[in-house]
Amino acid sequence: MIKIGTSACVVGDKVRFDGGHKRSAFVAGHIVTHYELVKFCPEVGIGMPVPRPAIQLREVDERIRLVDSKTGEKDYSDAMAGYFSRQLERLQELDGYILAAKSPSCGMERIKIHNEDGKLLHRDGVGMFAAALKQAFPDLPVEEDGRLNDQGLRESFFTRVEAYARFRQLVLENMQPSSLIEFHTCYKYLLLAYNPKIYYELGPVVANCRQDFDAAVAAYRSKFMQALSKPTTRKKHTNVLMHLQGFFKQELDSKYKSELTEEIKKYHSGYVPLLAPLTLINHYLREFPNEFLAKQAYLNPYPLELGLMA
Ligand code: SF4
Repeated sequence: MIKIGTSACVVGDKVRFDGGHKRSAFVAGHIVTHYELVKFCPEVGIGMPVPRPAIQLREVDERIRLVDSKTGEKDYSDAMAGYFSRQLERLQELDGYILAAKSPSCGMERIKIHNEDGKLLHRDGVGMFAAALKQAFPDLPVEEDGRLNDQGLRESFFTRVEAYARFRQLVLENMQPSSLIEFHTCYKYLLLAYNPKIYYELGPVVANCRQDFDAAVAAYRSKFMQALSKPTTRKKHTNVLMHLQGFFKQELDSKYKSELTEEIKKYHSGYVPLLAPLTLINHYLREFPNEFLAKQAYLNPYPLELGLMA
């Protein structure tokens, strides 16, 4: 089962500074049936009690420090770095991470940064644990709990999680050019649906990967994850669906062809979810098998049971 890291308070653990939790029904009640959730509470992990005094990020001598909000005299930065190092082995097994928003430890973005006297400087910071996570695993799919309420961000996140896991199995556990070529082949239409520009940029990376394979794999994964990091549009999906329709031009008679065209048009207009034309394409694929099309991740980007396809 794919493992996704989560801030412990997001799955309902009462570990917040005020003794409460921040349970997300979507994370703790829904996705938990499809993924193994591995929880971390960095503040409890560094030995802080529950409840505990509030902490904040301060910029001191051009360095970000994690200190107690009241006096700024207790500095938890080194303890947090130590905790992160001790968790590395568990973190390496993850294919995604869901962080709690607004926390000076776990927040992914827009975290308050204060000056050394505790006055607010700006809100452009990153939680100290989250920053270490991003630095150590720059390609790991990471999202905040609240942002997962957005349909497009949800789809993007779980598409990335599944792709990251597949890349690990297909390429990293079998480091040879044929694995990278196979991965690129399987993700052709998914990449085209998210970022056609990057799809075409990745072609030469794959074609020349024998020159320095390790470097090519690193460059490929970084660009690939970047391509999927922004939600895509109905227009881009429609283009891909029309491409896929072309695979059946010999096999389908005019009645079935126009049925699929109609379904794609309805999706483009927002009347039906993406699942509708994809179900029809998957149905035709079972009727008229096509090896290349059958391996396309685009047709099954994440477990259908997640109920995400809009
Ligand atoms: S936001 Fe992070 S540090 Fe804070 S309670 Fe939740 S898991 Fe713990």
